[in-house]
Amino acid sequence: MSTTAARPAVEAWPEGVIARYLTVGGATVDTGAYEKTDRDTTLQSTCWGCRESTLSSDGLSAYASSEERLAAALRAARQWSQAHAERCRALPHPFGPFADEIGPRRVSGRYYSHVSGNEYEVLDIQTERSFWPPWQITVRLLTGDRVGDVVSHCTAWDAKRDRVLS
Ligand SMILES: [Zn+2]
Repeated sequence: MSTTAARPAVEAWPEGVIARYLTVGGATVDTGAYEKTDRDTTLQSTCWGCRESTLSSDGLSAYASSEERLAAALRAARQWSQAHAERCRALPHPFGPFADEIGPRRVSGRYYSHVSGNEYEVLDIQTERSFWPPWQITVRLLTGDRVGDVVSHCTAWDAKRDRVLS
């Protein structure tokens, strides 16, 4: 018996994911399309625990059909994902695939945006939206022409130019 058996058997996968493995750490390894040309199909698999990622190409001759290419690339991706999921103990980040975009921002923290030149306070961070954009941050502007306004957006954190104020 696995300790993860209580998870629901079926839950919606993110758009574009065609294979998904549950790691021993409770994160997922997701495989999706990376590149598809006439000569090659490549799939990308990413572990959302440790964020290790790999590309799996079909490795077939130029005469293979696109169905054969997808099947071969998927076999290679599954092999990597299965092996990774069996040994990776990295816990999933609370913000999942959006960890980089959200950066160090947390609810009630204050930050400086190089995009607007304003300071703001985070009111809410949503990462499980069922429609585009898949994540969203809601903030109250603390400086600038629109001070006091509450706005929602999905502008990614810029580690070089944005700043944590408190
Ligand atoms: Zn991992």
